[in-house]
Amino acid sequence: QAKDAGRGTWRAYGREMDQRLHERLQREEALRVAIAEQQLEVYYQPRYLSQGMQIIGAEALVRWNHPERGLLLPEQFIPLAEETGLIIPLGRWVLHQACSQATRWPGDTVVSVNLSPLQLHDDRLLDEIAQALGENDLPGKRLELEVTESALLRETQGTLDQLKRIKALGVHLAVDDFGTGYSSLTSLRHYPFDVIKIDNSFVAGIGQSMEDHSIVRALIELGRGLQMRVTAEGVETEEQLRLLKDDGCTEVQGFHMSHPMPADELQRLLSQLPARD
Ligand code: C2E
Ligand code: MG
Ligand code: MG
Ligand code: MG
Repeated sequence: QAKDAGRGTWRAYGREMDQRLHERLQREEALRVAIAEQQLEVYYQPRYLSQGMQIIGAEALVRWNHPERGLLLPEQFIPLAEETGLIIPLGRWVLHQACSQATRWPGDTVVSVNLSPLQLHDDRLLDEIAQALGENDLPGKRLELEVTESALLRETQGTLDQLKRIKALGVHLAVDDFGTGYSSLTSLRHYPFDVIKIDNSFVAGIGQSMEDHSIVRALIELGRGLQMRVTAEGVETEEQLRLLKDDGCTEVQGFHMSHPMPADELQRLLSQLPARD
């Protein structure tokens, strides 16, 4: 009968909801355990000066060594961390790891750490940055914090004040995934950024799409005009590298040069390089 069938469907639907809620709670609990029990690991991807190709820094990119599912990428757990607020302890852990690693690198190598919007708007952030630097005796200028362009849309004055306080610690600031966040170009000049990171998606089109290449050129020009450094992310081919150099892009990062790697591997790479001054 139709009525019973309807009720049956409803019961099935209810069970499915229970099931989903249950799975979500389980995933949240697993992430909580991962943070507490050091199942997370920070990988580092070198960033190069396009003229000369010296390594000038590395970006901290978190991974999860999951006991059953293997090595997980950020896209598989960062969204959950953001929804549940676990990004706050996770981000704090990454920041401390990154600052501690960077003390083992050559004197002026900079470590970049990604900040989620939730962290950016957290009152404790400033103290935590100061603490991470202080505990490791790392000068502020050796740390760079990356904020995505879309994170800037949420708030204005509060965000601006927070960024200025971070800058006052000597820390560098980068606007990440630039070109994807639909912020107005003019708003960029009100923020105290040192670096623009051009999003992978535009860099991927260099040498293939005239439109993407034009956007990349415009972003490089914008950076130059605002006296900011420009990093192209996601450089995968020799041709992209060459065209970016021709266009005046000062810094590059991508699989063509190096994939993200465990800390000890990066340290080995850095120690094999001729000393810089
Ligand atoms: P992102 O900050 O834009 O980092 C760059 C991403 O591009 C990394 O992905 C990197 O592995 C990838 N990539 C680098 N070179 C290439 C290339 O040549 N080709 C391609 N296709 N991809 C390349 P990953 O490690 O999967 O991280 C993804 C995103 O997760 C990051 O994007 C960042 O937004 C977020 N994330 C990573 N670690 C953290 C963290 O500790 N905290 C927070 N809040 N977010 C993080
Ligand atoms: Mg980044
Ligand atoms: Mg990016
Ligand atoms: Mg990205």
